[in-house]
Parts: sequence; C-alpha cells; structure tokens
Amino acid sequence: MTASAGVTNMKRFEYCEPSTVDEAVLLLSRFGSKGNIFAGGTDLLVEMREHIRRPDHVINIKKVRGLDQLAFDERAGLRCGALVTMRTIETSPVVREHYRSLASAAQELGSVQVRNRATLGGNVCRASPSADTLPPLIADQASAVLQGPEGTRLVALEDFFTGPGRTVLGGNEVLTEFRIPAPPPGTAKVYIKHGRRKAMELATVGVAVTVTIADGTFRHVRIVLGAVAPTPIRTHRAEGLLLGRAASRDLIDAAAAAAMDDARPITDVRASADYRRAMVGVLTKRALLDAIGATR
Ligand SMILES: Cc1cc2nc3c(=O)[nH]c(=O)nc-3n(C[C@H](O)[C@H](O)[C@H](O)COP(=O)(O)OP(=O)(O)OC[C@H]3O[C@@H](n4cnc5c(N)ncnc54)[C@H](O)[C@@H]3O)c2cc1C
Repeated sequence: MTASAGVTNMKRFEYCEPSTVDEAVLLLSRFGSKGNIFAGGTDLLVEMREHIRRPDHVINIKKVRGLDQLAFDERAGLRCGALVTMRTIETSPVVREHYRSLASAAQELGSVQVRNRATLGGNVCRASPSADTLPPLIADQASAVLQGPEGTRLVALEDFFTGPGRTVLGGNEVLTEFRIPAPPPGTAKVYIKHGRRKAMELATVGVAVTVTIADGTFRHVRIVLGAVAPTPIRTHRAEGLLLGRAASRDLIDAAAAAAMDDARPITDVRASADYRRAMVGVLTKRALLDAIGATR
C-alpha cells in the first residue's frame, strides 16, 4: 500500500494501492463513506474533478491480481473479472461469439481511449441508468460476486440496481467477478444503442434482447431496456407475450407495444419521455427481428 498527495483542482486525498481483495475490503471498512474504489477512473475522476465526489481516500484496485481475467467454459459459461476493460470485452473472440450483445455494448462505449481504461465492474458499480453494458448483462442472466468482511455473496444483476447511481453493494464490499451462463443452442443476442450522435454519446435508449428459439418457437426470452427508468428494467409484458409462441410479425409488433407500456422514461436534456417511449417500440422490434434472423 502507498500513500501520496492529491492532484491540483481536486480536494487532497490519500491514495492507496492494495494488492489483494482482502486488503481493499479492510481499507473500505476502515474509511467508511470517506473511501472510494478506483478501477479505470473514467467515472470517478470526472466526478472528483467536478466535486460531485470528494473522497478522503482513493483505493486503486488495479494492482489486485486476478481481477482482470476472462475465462469461458462451454458448460459453466463466462467468468469475467471486475477489472476486465471494455476494450478486452469488445475484442475477445469468446465474448464476441457467445455474448455478442455484451461485446456490442462495450464497443459502443465512449472512445477507444476510454475503453482501454473503463472496466466492466466500474460501469456496473456506477449504476447509471444509461450505462451500456447493463441491459445485455441482465438479458444474459449475469450475476456479480461481491466480497466483503463476512465473505462473498452472489447477486443476480437483475436485483443489483436500486436507483440512479445506487446498488445493493455494501460500503465495504468489492465487486470481484461476473458470472454469465453459457447460452444454449439456438440463442441469439442483440444490443441496440440509440443516441443523437454515432460516437462518444450516452444512450438515449438502449435495448438488449436474448432469445432462444427452437422449432420456430420462443423457448427463452429476456428483453431489457436501458435509459428509460431509474434502473435498467426487464419488460416482463413483452417477454410474456413471446414465450412459448411461434415468431410472427404480429407477435413482434405486440411485444414492441408491450415494451413501450413497460418503459417509464423521463424528459431530460437528451430526449423527451414521449420520444424515448416511441424509440423503445422501434428498437425492441428491430432487436427482436435481428435476433430471430440470427438464429436461422
Ligand atoms: C468521455 C467518456 C465517455 C463515456 N461514454 C460512456 C458510454 O458511452 N457508455 C457508458 O455506459 N459509459 C460511458 N462512460 C462512463 C465510464 O467510462 C464507464 O461507466 C466505465 O465503465 C466506468 O469504469 P471505470 O473502471 O472507469 O470506473 P471508475 O471510474 O473507476 O469507478 C466508477 C464507480 O464504480 C466504483 N467501482 C469501480 N469498480 C468497482 C469494484 N470492482 N467494486 C466496487 N466498486 C467499484 C467506483 O468506486 C466508482 O464509484 C464514459 C466516460 C467518459 C469519461
């Protein structure tokens, strides 16, 4: 562990570099709300410069060994360390093959410079309603391993987010790893991000779809909407309409309409609530049609 002075323009802080998760947990427990984990820093540093956050202690976990590992097993699925960067995810052959929507989300995030630093753990723990990787992770039934003073617990990402910037992560817990089940045969995954610009833009609406189709029938469906509620949300009405039924144009239209009903968008600087709701319909339909096409 080392300590150094802060940076100009920011409140001074103590800088720590734990080399194990246990040590990071110990520091978090000691510092309480005055300590902050630092992974890639692409959210935290911006917030510190803008004085949105003013931690007394910054705990850089980049030197914790093992948190940047990515491993895939045909049966167990993907294990992805919290420090795996967006650039690694977007370029990983196994992620591109088995978790295509997650690879697309990573590829659409910020610029290549940002993606070289930004971590999956940071994107999830920041819990922005418009964060790109959250819809595909929830659509893929991902869970997060959280380590605290009492040991580890596994939390489904569907239950992880409680509001904008808020999660069930305890103040003395570190998110160490994601586990994502292996997709069964006949599965297709699509993520569509909609923004005003093509690059360096946060999502106005994001839609992730994971479907498994066998004999022309939906056997498994998850549709997750981003940026249209305080947290990413599943559209249970749309999923319920599709499950167990044969794919048809009318059914896809009905599912897109149901997704619009489930969205709870707000009006802000990026778009009006009405526009966002309309785009949920357009993108849900498009994502479903893409996914159906990909399973053929
Ligand atoms: C120019 C720019 C463009 C961007 N574009 C996008 C975009 O298009 N889409 C998008 O979704 N995001 C975007 N972002 C936001 C950001 O890059 C991502 O959210 C990124 O994934 C955050 O990861 P990080 O490792 O940098 O997190 P950090 O900034 O290090 O941390 C973010 C938060 O998570 C906590 N944290 C991080 N890791 C852990 C952990 N393992 N355990 C517990 N807590 C942890 C930190 O304490 C902090 O509160 C952009 C940012 C910038 C600066």
